[in-house]
Amino acid sequence: MAVKSVALVAHDNKKRELVDWVSENRTRFAALRLYASGTTGRLLKEDLGRDDIVCLLSGPLGGDQQIGAKIAEGEIDLLVFFWDPLEPQPHDPDIKALLRIAALWNIPVACNRATAEFILTSAYMTDDQHQPKKPDFSSYTGRPVN
Ligand code: PGA
Repeated sequence: MAVKSVALVAHDNKKRELVDWVSENRTRFAALRLYASGTTGRLLKEDLGRDDIVCLLSGPLGGDQQIGAKIAEGEIDLLVFFWDPLEPQPHDPDIKALLRIAALWNIPVACNRATAEFILTSAYMTDDQHQPKKPDFSSYTGRPVN
């Protein structure tokens, strides 16, 4: 069975919620390859005792952009991003860019626990036959330019 890759990111006020949710669902997560922004990943490693989580840079230091690049390269199947709706972030442009690139490449995105629960328990998570439709950008990349 193809292992699905999940990217996990949480802003500081949301980190505890994310870590608790992943911990409560550790059996489901055991079958998944995990990537995370730096600090989120460190907390997940500590809590889960998993040393196979790929920790990228901290979000404000470029981690969000690294995850965006992985999405564009087809390495990520699901983005769980608990962003904080009550606090402005210094790296707002990076956050917007990450959400944009996930929408562009038709990647499922959970921005809160309720959505994350729906996605994690979806039959598609374990269905090898199901692949979200990959967008075709050939008319964009082949467009005439002067
Ligand atoms: P962090 O980054 O996990 O390194 O705190 C999250 C974010 O993008 O703010």
